[in-house]
Amino acid sequence: MTINRRKPFQGFSISFPKTPNIKRRYSVTQDIVAFRRCARQYGAFNVHKYAPAYQTQAYFGTILHQVLDRCHTHFHGKFDPSIIGTLPDNGRILKDEEILNYFDDLRQAERTKSAKPTPPSQIVKYFIEVENGLKSQGIRAITKDIRLKAVRLLQYFNTLEGPTLYQRVKDTEHRLQADRTTHILHGVVDLLVDTPGSTGNPADCEMWDYKGSSLLNVNPKDLENYEFQMRVYAKLYELKHGVLPRKAILYFLNELDGPTCPTQRPVNALLEVSITPSEIDSAVQEFAQTVIQIEQARCNDQWNPALTGTISEKDCAICDLRWDCTTPNGGSGITLRYP
Ligand code: SF4
Repeated sequence: MTINRRKPFQGFSISFPKTPNIKRRYSVTQDIVAFRRCARQYGAFNVHKYAPAYQTQAYFGTILHQVLDRCHTHFHGKFDPSIIGTLPDNGRILKDEEILNYFDDLRQAERTKSAKPTPPSQIVKYFIEVENGLKSQGIRAITKDIRLKAVRLLQYFNTLEGPTLYQRVKDTEHRLQADRTTHILHGVVDLLVDTPGSTGNPADCEMWDYKGSSLLNVNPKDLENYEFQMRVYAKLYELKHGVLPRKAILYFLNELDGPTCPTQRPVNALLEVSITPSEIDSAVQEFAQTVIQIEQARCNDQWNPALTGTISEKDCAICDLRWDCTTPNGGSGITLRYP
């Protein structure tokens, strides 16, 4: 072949590279539920990765989940085999003053860089460990009351539910995933709980998910999203284990709050979500539809706020985007404050 020195690449043909077939992973809660709750918030914090000024909701929900996970690990002897089968603190509950005094002493020791006081209980010890991990990610409690309330709820749950629930727990943070051709769908179930007397058959397992709120204060749209989440988990469970779980349970931890630990489970603490095959199918279809909507929003970089009435005023009140959003206050927006 003679090379044309003035046009050395004449005659060469290079094919275009093939578009790589990379599938996006969609988390049931962090993507799909978050987008359905408020697309604008999802676009800002999950897609564009802006850092929220406060992460109160993330703090409260995460600390409850992670400390309870440690309680299960404690009971199953994974921290120390010699205490297998025991509840953290043997179910003992500290008074609010004892917890607050410890928090004050700890803060004082951190300020003066002196020796830190020993946590007054195992739950408080697990709480501080988790809290330190969250602090390193910039997630903190805004007020002392929120910290106190989290410890109180954890103690109450441990005392009330621990004796019967912990021994039934088969797995925690149970990961589920499915390849849906255009994307990968994944989720993490808080607990897999065996039915009493079962032989470990997956068909006898219940899926439990902890919520930091109370059932009575949940916005109807949020409740719809929680039910949707459990139905998608049920489908993922079926794909992994070949059978549907026996039950899907939501546990509303805030229902336990009060001056003393309840002696029996409050009626609204536990909600069983119906998981009939038709409900599961429609949740899976909605999931696919939401993925399409997210992809469209990404293409146009257009993230619309939730419609007024579909999101709680409390959620909007702590949103960094509220200052130029028309949704809060029943659609009239926030009054700007000037110094
Ligand atoms: S103020 Fe409310 S509706 Fe507006 S972006 Fe924030 S959460 Fe969404």
